[in-house]
Amino acid sequence: MLFWFLCFSTIDPYNTYKKLTPHFNTTFKDQPIALPIALPPPIVPQATTPFQPDIKPIDKKPVWRTEIIQSGDTLADIFAKNRLSAKQLQEILNIREAARALSAIRPNQQIELLANDNHELQALNYHINNTTILKITATANGFKADTIELTPDKVVGYASGVIKNSFYVAAQKAGLNSKQIMELIKMFNSKVDFAREVHPGDSFRVLYDQEFIKGKKVRGGDIIAAEFTANGQSYKILRYTDPKGRTDYYTEDGNSTSLAFVRKPVLSARISSPFSLHRMHPILHIAMPHYGTDFAAPIGTPIKATGDGKIAFAGSQHGYGNVVIIQHNERYNTLYAHMSRFGKNIKPGTRVKLGQIIGYVGMTGRANGPHVHYEFRVNGKRYDPMKVPLPHSDSIPKTYRQDFTTKLNKLNKLFEQHQSSANDKTVSS
Ligand SMILES: [Zn+2]
Repeated sequence: MLFWFLCFSTIDPYNTYKKLTPHFNTTFKDQPIALPIALPPPIVPQATTPFQPDIKPIDKKPVWRTEIIQSGDTLADIFAKNRLSAKQLQEILNIREAARALSAIRPNQQIELLANDNHELQALNYHINNTTILKITATANGFKADTIELTPDKVVGYASGVIKNSFYVAAQKAGLNSKQIMELIKMFNSKVDFAREVHPGDSFRVLYDQEFIKGKKVRGGDIIAAEFTANGQSYKILRYTDPKGRTDYYTEDGNSTSLAFVRKPVLSARISSPFSLHRMHPILHIAMPHYGTDFAAPIGTPIKATGDGKIAFAGSQHGYGNVVIIQHNERYNTLYAHMSRFGKNIKPGTRVKLGQIIGYVGMTGRANGPHVHYEFRVNGKRYDPMKVPLPHSDSIPKTYRQDFTTKLNKLNKLFEQHQSSANDKTVSS
C-alpha cells in the first residue's frame, strides 16, 4: 500500500485520488466519470519511462488559467508551475513567430493557459501589449501561432474649464493630465503666454482622443482640438494628419502652430562663444566677427539637424573642418562645423528631419576645443541663432485644403454637441 502511495504521489496525488474515489463523483454530478473496474496490477517504475497508471481521465471541461508574469519568471517556470511539459514548451518555441514574441516577456504581462486534464496544453494567449495577443493553439499537426491585433473603440473625450487664477489648476480640475496640459501650452505657445497673459474668467475647451478595448482604456490622450477664449477672443487649434501621414497642429486658417526649427543642434550643451560682430578671435587674436554660436560638448556628442531639410554640403572646408550645411527651403539654411565625423548616410542630397543625427562633435578645422560652431542663415545672411525669430512650419498646402476643412468642420460640430449638452446639464441642475 505504501508503495502505491509513493508511486501516485510522485505523479499527482490529488488527481489520482479524484480518479480513484467514487465519493468524488457526488461533487461533479453533471459530469460523466469513468472509473476503473479493478486496480491495475502493480508495476515497477523505471527511470526511463514515467509511470502511467492505466486510468482514463475524467472528461472535465478545461478551464483557462491566468498567469501574471512576475519579475524573474521564465516561461519554463510558468509551465512547471502549471504542470505543463517542457517538451510542449519547446514545441511552441520551435515556431519562429512564437519564439520571437515569447522571448520578450516582461513582469506584469498576462499569459492565459488552457490545459486538459492530462496537463496537455490546448491553447495559450500571451498579451504582448494592450492591443496585440499571441495565440497558440494545439492542432492535430502540432501547435500553431497567430498574432491578433485588436481594434480599439475610439471615443473622443471632452474637457472644459474657466480659469480662476492658474491655467494649470483649472486644466487639472477639468480632468486633463499634466502631459495634456503641457501639450496645450505648447500648442498655444505663439498665441498665449499662459504664465502671464491668462486672466480670471478666461476659458478653454478641449477634445482629445481615447481608445478602449472591452471598456478598458488602452491608449490615447492626444489633443485633437482646443479652444482658448480670452477677453472675448477665441483661438482654436486642431491636430491634422495629412494624407501622407504628417501630423501637426494648425490654426483654423491652416497655419502651423509649431516652429520649423529648434534653437540648439546639441541638447544640454554650454554656449562657449556667442554670436558677435566684434569678437576677438581666440586663436588669431584679431578683432573678427563670430557669425555663429559655439556649443561646447565632449567629442562624439551627437549633433542634430535643427529643422527639416536637404543636405547641401557635407565635407571639409578650411576653418570649418568637417562641416554640414542643410538647406531648409529657399530662405533658410543652417551650418554645423568642426565635426569629428558625419552621421550615417549624410551626404549632399539626403533629406533630413528635425532632430536627426547629422554628425558628431569634434575639433576639426580651426578649433581650440571640442565644440560645434552653428550658423543660422536667412537669405544668405547670418543671424544670431539664439535670437533670430524662428519661422513656423509650413501651412496646409492647397492640395490638402479640402480634406483639412472637412476635418475642421467635424471637430467644430463635436465642440457644438458638447457645448449644447453642457448647457442642458446647467439648465436642468
Ligand atoms: Zn564658432
